[in-house]
Amino acid sequence: MDHKQLALKHLEQARPLLDETALDIWRHPEIALTEKYASTKLAEILEEDGFRIEWGIGGMPTAFIATWGAGGPTIGILGEYDALPGLSQNVTATRSPIQTGGAGHGCGHNLFGTASMGAAMAVKSALQVTSSPGTVRFYGCPAEETLVGKTFMARDRAFDDLDAALAWHPSNVNTAAITGSSLAMNSFKVNFHGIAAHAGAVPHLGRSALDGCMLMDVGVNYLREHIIPEARIHSVITSGGQAPNIVPAYAQIWYFVRAPKRHQVEDIYKRVLDIAHGAALMSGTTHDIEFVTGCYDVLTNRTLGELLQENMKAIGGIAFDPQDYEFGRQLRATVSAEMVATSDKMTLESAAAHVTLADLGDVLCHAVIDPSDKDVVMPGSTEVGDVSHIVPTGNMVTACFPHGTPGHSWQLTAAVGSSIGTKGMMFAAQSLATTALDLIDQPEQLARAKAEFVAAKGSRTYVSPIAAGAKPS
Ligand SMILES: [Zn+2]
Repeated sequence: MDHKQLALKHLEQARPLLDETALDIWRHPEIALTEKYASTKLAEILEEDGFRIEWGIGGMPTAFIATWGAGGPTIGILGEYDALPGLSQNVTATRSPIQTGGAGHGCGHNLFGTASMGAAMAVKSALQVTSSPGTVRFYGCPAEETLVGKTFMARDRAFDDLDAALAWHPSNVNTAAITGSSLAMNSFKVNFHGIAAHAGAVPHLGRSALDGCMLMDVGVNYLREHIIPEARIHSVITSGGQAPNIVPAYAQIWYFVRAPKRHQVEDIYKRVLDIAHGAALMSGTTHDIEFVTGCYDVLTNRTLGELLQENMKAIGGIAFDPQDYEFGRQLRATVSAEMVATSDKMTLESAAAHVTLADLGDVLCHAVIDPSDKDVVMPGSTEVGDVSHIVPTGNMVTACFPHGTPGHSWQLTAAVGSSIGTKGMMFAAQSLATTALDLIDQPEQLARAKAEFVAAKGSRTYVSPIAAGAKPS
């Protein structure tokens, strides 16, 4: 048996453990930075298996790294495990929260962490059986939903000594990324400080912090005309005073600035800070900036994407059973026809030109879909971007929910708590493990991925958007 066969055999034996782990984490949903149950569970399994555990990476108690092996290349496999607020849901096709208002795994990170852990253990098992050199690392990355985890881990240089990194995400299709990117972003809050006063009697003695926020947003709205059209700026006023008859002494506005490239975000961010300064001058208030987090766009590595795709094809896809299709159909019936059509359109856009709706499969995608060759920027942000600017990073998705399922929805929570999700998870673990072993066993593949990375980076080095010493909030 070669390394890949050994890894696949190991995963087959580990299937009950992986399924139970993913469903256990699903039953214990924890939002960003509170993932004590999930992180402890995964770390305990890895430690028991002989991995060395380091806790508290990036200053976060629920972030950890598990390492096994010596010598050879070091391959990192990224895992996530945070849930989303308000998406608690039973495995049913009607809205039925397990806990009203409670958190739920509406992005499938219960599968994400578990598949990556399983892949790391399968790589270890194959290398151990043959006494081969090679180092495999599982990255326990918390707080993906708030774009905090990997950015703080990257700032603290947790990925610097890797030769390559691999990641995946639950999706409605099976495919690897060979082109494309995501939006870089900065998330920051602006606090305005004024002077409280009786709004009827002595408003001339007050200075309104809320005026600061509103003038700032007017300024930002004028800025929109003079920035690149691909950029996005969104804001909410998180605190605007307490009563109309009190001049607000404190107000806060929270912004996201997003753009296709990191340097574009930095340029727009500087101009937004100037506007904050101007708004404070106009309103006679003072202000300070609370930087929440920032991330890079994804630098897609085609070599690693093609290798993942090749392994996905060799494994062959996912064998869903009739009950999976039936549950998938029931779930999809709860989604509007418009949502299904939008999802189908987006799925086809991310696939190769020859892929048709019929190729995607009815309800569930069992086949491996050829990826798009077009350089499309996904209209969201991920801190896998930061890792991808530090080491060559391969990314893939597997089908863990039906076509048409909206992201961050109760339908998604239900699907990833069912056997649809665990089957997709197993396919991800198999694809990640075999690709990691290719990178260890075929130095020429790793060299090609690195050369591509160096060429794409040019002279730019990774500079963390997060200040040294800053703590995740
Ligand atoms: Zn996610």
